[in-house]
Amino acid sequence: MEIADFQKLIEQMYSAKDRARGSPRTFLWLIEEIGELASALATDNKADKAGEFADVFAWLVTLANVEGVDLNQAVEKYAHGCPGCGKMVCTCTEK
Ligand SMILES: [Mg+2]
Ligand SMILES: [Zn+2]
Repeated sequence: MEIADFQKLIEQMYSAKDRARGSPRTFLWLIEEIGELASALATDNKADKAGEFADVFAWLVTLANVEGVDLNQAVEKYAHGCPGCGKMVCTCTEK
């Protein structure tokens, strides 16, 4: 599934609830899922990890929908190189 298709899917599934909830509370849900991802990363359960990555991504997409951000368009900033150094293989010095 492409990013744009996934964003549309999430929009169709959840947008009414998401807009009513608003950005600040949607952001809290995203952070909660990031916490769940942190817990999953501490295990050896690959399926759990994958599931939590999906949850984090879904809530990130949800937040983008509430804010009216087109993620397909947003990630374009990485399409032609690192936004920091402009290279396809990053040469930025910070770690
Ligand atoms: Mg979760
Ligand atoms: Zn770079």
